[in-house]
Amino acid sequence: MKIEREKLEQVGEYLRGTCKSVGDAVSALELGEDVDETTLEADLLDVDTELCVQCGWWHEVCELEYSEQHGGGLCEQCCDELGVEFN
Ligand SMILES: [Zn+2]
Repeated sequence: MKIEREKLEQVGEYLRGTCKSVGDAVSALELGEDVDETTLEADLLDVDTELCVQCGWWHEVCELEYSEQHGGGLCEQCCDELGVEFN
């Protein structure tokens, strides 16, 4: 089931700046039980919301530095800790 854009933006707003799970957002925003959380997480990129793979906090996509070595986006703080160059 594809989530409407409006709902997706609400999920993004709910998650950014927190370390809550996609599942938390699904229950808090009452998106229903048939939501695929993996798909939802991928769709969140469309509303500028991405998880830092290291600390598990949600950020705006532009705030993360992609690291091939770590397999995803890293926030500035994690880049510091891991010695990854942050641009
Ligand atoms: Zn981080």
